[in-house]
Amino acid sequence: MLTGPDGRFALTDARAGTGAVVGRALEAAERAAELVRSRVEMLRAYAETTGCRRRYLLGYFGEELAAPCGNCDTCEAGATAEEPAPAGEFRAENVRHAEWGRGVVRTVEEDKLTVLFDDVGYRTLSLPVVREQDLLERC
Ligand SMILES: [Zn+2]
Repeated sequence: MLTGPDGRFALTDARAGTGAVVGRALEAAERAAELVRSRVEMLRAYAETTGCRRRYLLGYFGEELAAPCGNCDTCEAGATAEEPAPAGEFRAENVRHAEWGRGVVRTVEEDKLTVLFDDVGYRTLSLPVVREQDLLERC
């Protein structure tokens, strides 16, 4: 089964049974819904961050800002004055999680990182827990 540019599913295996096709369509729809939910979660995290918003946005798009920008609302409020540089060990890397599969690190903050996983969308993880339990394998 394939998803076309119009978002409709196209059957690619004419021998597949109806149940299998419906099952795959449901799985694809669930993955799409999960990705939308995770995007909303990313937006919520952006709204609530006390870190530099420019750094957060650049991280979302795979770019890195070494120091807080000094111009966004959180920087101007002084909330980011002591913000350390992002943890270097996971900068914009391809990683693999045992349950969520392959992903790309999007943002790294002092105590958490956000990964865009191919199958489940965005997930925010505690950096100390990731380190402690060795949750992400670099690949
Ligand atoms: Zn800033």
